[in-house]
Amino acid sequence: MLLHSLPRTSLGFFPTPIVELKKLSHKLQGPRIFVKRDDQTGLALGGNKTRKLEYFVADALQQGCDTLVTAGAPQSNHCRQTAAAASLTGLDCHLVLGGQPTIDVNGNLLLDKLLGANIHWSGDQRKGEQIPNIIDSLTVQGKKPYVIPYGGSNAVGAAAFVFALEELTQQLTSLNINIDHIVFASSSGGTHAGLTVGSALLNLDSQIVGIGIDKGEAGELPYSTCLAQLSNETHQLIMGKGSQYPEQDFIVNTDYQSTGYGVVGDLEKEAIQLVAQTEGILLDPVYTGRAMGALIDMIRNKQFDRQETVLFWHTGGAPALFDYAAVLT
Ligand SMILES: *Cc1c(COP(=O)(O)O)cnc(C)c1O
Repeated sequence: MLLHSLPRTSLGFFPTPIVELKKLSHKLQGPRIFVKRDDQTGLALGGNKTRKLEYFVADALQQGCDTLVTAGAPQSNHCRQTAAAASLTGLDCHLVLGGQPTIDVNGNLLLDKLLGANIHWSGDQRKGEQIPNIIDSLTVQGKKPYVIPYGGSNAVGAAAFVFALEELTQQLTSLNINIDHIVFASSSGGTHAGLTVGSALLNLDSQIVGIGIDKGEAGELPYSTCLAQLSNETHQLIMGKGSQYPEQDFIVNTDYQSTGYGVVGDLEKEAIQLVAQTEGILLDPVYTGRAMGALIDMIRNKQFDRQETVLFWHTGGAPALFDYAAVLT
């Protein structure tokens, strides 16, 4: 079944490649491992947010907006790709970043500045709590802002991953590969919800395994509740009719997030070095380093059969490596 698409503005290079990590599988004596290279989406060093932004930008242009506004951590890949999308399509960009102004401009923050984004520092909060104030002041200045939520995870952003799953199934059919498990870093939920809705609509029987990255804050809804709601909304947006995705169907492995968001420990460091040194592929310190660390640990604990096939969805993020030089060397 081919899905009916939504308005889309081309920002990257698709389909992204699929490669097999034969040496890593051999080294771990584990399952076959493939990687979906969304680190190669091509928009200012790439990443999974490029897919979401293709639909956000189309929506913004359709609504006659002239400014993209979003939020994230100082090393947000989502913010960097939003800044690049704005440059490419002639929009202004305002980013609300957690933390304080710093002279240590590196990694994604350096790229945000090179891409010409306007940066607002938001102290302890990094999930867009200050966006309403910024919208007010932009509106007073006669601007028409378009707000992209934290991580780009609303139904429009998640829909991009429904279409990504369609892209994947077409590649798997032509390569004649069957995937038992899809493993990836799951954080603001758009990727996870989109892959879930996509596999329901396209009858893909791979298990969708999100590795929890951010343990969240007190007062936030449980993550699987958010994933279920977002999946329901995404299904509605694409199909024009409702569906109920049960919370308990979402697999989020929370065993690897206890050190907290953005903290690099031995798990992440070993995974980054191992994949770099066996396959020449760069992971990132916050998301894919942790998710690959989890996958490696699960393989060592024999949670996957050697006859099985795992697809690791590489969601990008390597620009942040440069900001973590001190802990990675
Ligand atoms: C944003 C991001 C993720 C998480 O995707 P969500 O859709 O927010 O869950 C994973 N990896 C990288 C590198 C990211 O930038």
